[in-house]
Amino acid sequence: MISYNEALEIIISEFKQFPFQQEEIHILDSLNRILAEDIYTDVPLPSFDYSAMDGIGIKFDDKIKKWNLIGEISAGNFKDIIVDENSAVYITTGGKIPPGVDTVIQVEDIIMDENSAELIRDTKFKQGQNIRRRAEDISIHERVLTRGTLLGIQHIPMAASCGKEYVKVFKQLKIGVLATGDELIPVNEKPYDDKIRCSNLYSIIAAVRKLNMIAVDLGIVIDNKLNIEKTIQTALAEDIDILISTGGVSAGKYDYLGKIYEKSGVKSKISKVNIKPGKPFMFGVYGKDENKKLVLGLPGNPISCLVSFILFFRDPYLRNFNSYNENHINAKIANDVKKKDPKRHFLRGHYYTENGENYVNVIGSQSSGDMYSMAQSNCLIEVEEEKKSIPVGESVRCIII
Ligand code: AMP
Ligand code: MG
Repeated sequence: MISYNEALEIIISEFKQFPFQQEEIHILDSLNRILAEDIYTDVPLPSFDYSAMDGIGIKFDDKIKKWNLIGEISAGNFKDIIVDENSAVYITTGGKIPPGVDTVIQVEDIIMDENSAELIRDTKFKQGQNIRRRAEDISIHERVLTRGTLLGIQHIPMAASCGKEYVKVFKQLKIGVLATGDELIPVNEKPYDDKIRCSNLYSIIAAVRKLNMIAVDLGIVIDNKLNIEKTIQTALAEDIDILISTGGVSAGKYDYLGKIYEKSGVKSKISKVNIKPGKPFMFGVYGKDENKKLVLGLPGNPISCLVSFILFFRDPYLRNFNSYNENHINAKIANDVKKKDPKRHFLRGHYYTENGENYVNVIGSQSSGDMYSMAQSNCLIEVEEEKKSIPVGESVRCIII
């Protein structure tokens, strides 16, 4: 059995070597995709000096309080108007500053008629005010977005301002998801006898979609060696990048997955991790080079299953693209925590912010089958191997779900 850190290192290293494909897509389709190129400015920003306010453009002289209005420049309608100390040009926000103008006084500070503008009482104004200068934000040929950026709505205007109608992004990964277990019935059936609704298929498909990947639903497979083998081998032959199964990876009589993966040519890199929940966990690699696929055998317990996905798929994937830290916060713990075993624990918690401080409550039940407690939580509280207890108020790392 290996530690959490060792497991993470193995998976991160596999992600580093993974043959992520790229494609060029329209900027309007690029939201939530991962940028596969650096983006540079092709013009300085701003590209010309312009007015930051609606007002009058003047040649600064603090003794003059009244000007003759000699013309108008609105955004996109530049005119080469020459002002002297006694004249002004009416200019709107975004209007290009004509030569000679070095100051803009906003309309709120002046009284204007057709032909003149006068300062309201003793309003002060400074030379250079209300003018945004060419290249003040960024010069030409500067890198403004980095490969690996998860494109949010804040990045789209930047790319657009660099003239990127098309952007190079990583192709969406295609993830095959299957659940194993004789006890599993679909969500639209009522449980009877010893049957339970299969929740893992839904949780993992939803988690995959949240990462903006494409989930391929491979369904529920009964605990029959041949059935599982057939499903897995068909899936591995298909056009998917990652195969994720749930259940059947622990030490029970019908936990066939490890052996079947091995028989199907999957090279196992991890079979158990010293964590709770989620100790049984299989990670392996199938094929090589451009055809490489990653395989994850998640434990069947619904909580272990989702926790393992977050820890060993979502986070290393995001870390590979530097988006990882956005899912982690530190918070002061609101309950005493005691731990007897030397595993790394991931407790269901609920964090909140009060007066600028993060706090986290441990959710009552930590049973690895308790979906109700999962539904009440918004993070996993990390308790390291050597920790025996955490007193109230201590800062802990929380992994946002
Ligand atoms: P396993 O990992 O297959 O030994 O399953 C461990 C526990 O998780 C058992 O109690 C299973 O009934 C339960 N379980 C397995 N797969 C699922 C699933 N897809 N949805 C809900 N519970 C499951
Ligand atoms: Mg099972």
